[in-house]
Amino acid sequence: MLVHTIAEVREKVKEWKKQGLTIGLVPTMGALHSGHLSLIKKSVEKCDKTVVSVFVNPIQFCPGEDLDKYPRTLEADEQLCNGAGVDIVFAPSPAEMYPDAQMLSNDFLTYIIPPFFYVNKLCGKSRVGHFDGVCTVVNKLFNIVQPDYAFFGEKDRQQLIILRKMVKDLNIPVEIIPCPIVREESGLALSSRNKYLSENDKINALALSKILFNIKACYNNGITDVDALTETAYSYLNTCHNLEYLEFRDADNLEEKQTADNNTVVFIALKIGNVRLIDNIALS
Ligand code: AMP
Repeated sequence: MLVHTIAEVREKVKEWKKQGLTIGLVPTMGALHSGHLSLIKKSVEKCDKTVVSVFVNPIQFCPGEDLDKYPRTLEADEQLCNGAGVDIVFAPSPAEMYPDAQMLSNDFLTYIIPPFFYVNKLCGKSRVGHFDGVCTVVNKLFNIVQPDYAFFGEKDRQQLIILRKMVKDLNIPVEIIPCPIVREESGLALSSRNKYLSENDKINALALSKILFNIKACYNNGITDVDALTETAYSYLNTCHNLEYLEFRDADNLEEKQTADNNTVVFIALKIGNVRLIDNIALS
């Protein structure tokens, strides 16, 4: 069932809560692919009712980013959700989510601001304010849907860690369920932004997963020195790649690691032309 208003969602949620049913929420920006589908399947399996939100959230895009050209495929998304047993596809307009939409700034909207330590690194460094936008919209969705469980992909692991922290710090009664990264057979992590890649770009994009898989193989062979592990990446990079970061960080609090261990995650971001791609791998 496709729903565009908060009032309609609230009405359904009220009914479900009365019946004592559990609710799962899968927040997305749409252009759904098998990665999203894996989250949806988990929710349908675990919860009595599943809500998938499809909302390209303007406040998590920084100036100059791809807000306007971000792929929007609501009809196909709805079909995929119906086939997967989703109860509500919640696709609000920006005006529905932000009625004071003409003033999407810190001065005119109550924001959730995650701790600086979690956002001053990795994606937060180049995407200033991005995680404020993510936390704010997820918090709004939590208040609208009141889910028991919310499903997030490890593909966006910094986001997952920050949202976990938000839920803990603010005592939000939602359990965050992490879901593993879904990849193409080639190794490329699925992403709605892969639609921007040409065939040639896609070949170049394999560098991300190749670098991560190789680092994990070296770690499994006993190499734990982060400088030595980082060194192994460079042979996969060519002039098409603009490396933004390759960092080893703690899986719980994102602290930097000098020596890799089983609680280390390797994070990578690089640009191919104008397309920015991210990936990560846990060394455990
Ligand atoms: P997005 O629509 O890009 O905001 O993503 C919505 C949710 O799907 C987020 O929790 C993402 O981490 C998750 N997701 C996106 N791509 C993948 C993937 N390849 N594997 C697993 N989860 C994913």
